[in-house]
Amino acid sequence: MRTPETISLKSRQLIDFCRTLTLDGDISDEDAWELGNFLNENRECCDDWPGDELASLISKIFANGSVAEYELKQLASKLGSIEKKAFKIFNKEQIAESIESFSPYDCILPSIPTVVSIKSDSNPDESYSVDLSVSSCSCSDWYGARRHFQPNSLNRCCKHIAYALHKIKKDLEYPEWLQRLIDECRHSKKGLNPKVRRGLCRSSCSLSSS
Ligand SMILES: [Zn+2]
Repeated sequence: MRTPETISLKSRQLIDFCRTLTLDGDISDEDAWELGNFLNENRECCDDWPGDELASLISKIFANGSVAEYELKQLASKLGSIEKKAFKIFNKEQIAESIESFSPYDCILPSIPTVVSIKSDSNPDESYSVDLSVSSCSCSDWYGARRHFQPNSLNRCCKHIAYALHKIKKDLEYPEWLQRLIDECRHSKKGLNPKVRRGLCRSSCSLSSS
């Protein structure tokens, strides 16, 4: 099964429509009919994912003129897997948008709407949850020394936040100072000094410890 990188406007409308069907947590005969009608009226949806997969399932379901219980279950599970995949794609898009729109002059950590799980360096069975929207981490360093700082301030940057920023970056680019900060944390396996002072020079953010 192919997973698209982006979703067209038509397919987004289809995904939105599917969400209205699953809102009550249950898929009925009527929902299946409504979906069939929607696909009939919007045939251009059926060329791309997820319309192609839904159209073939719906035509199978209605092939014998009636809808069986197991077919509704199949449809419900298909809708569930489409929603999961769509969530991942939308999330990727949001990450890319947040990184691209991040201003290098702000001298704060970028706010990226995603939660990343990072394995502990000392105990591979343990992992920490990093919320990059506010730069928070579930480690003791963060709770002990960093949580009282403003969301996204540099003082919040424990090493796991740097690792998480590295992990989600993929082929996107951070401003140079932020990339240097991340590399330094990864290299030293330490977070940024929580007492760091931030300063702005003309083109970027510069750091000094007090
Ligand atoms: Zn941490």
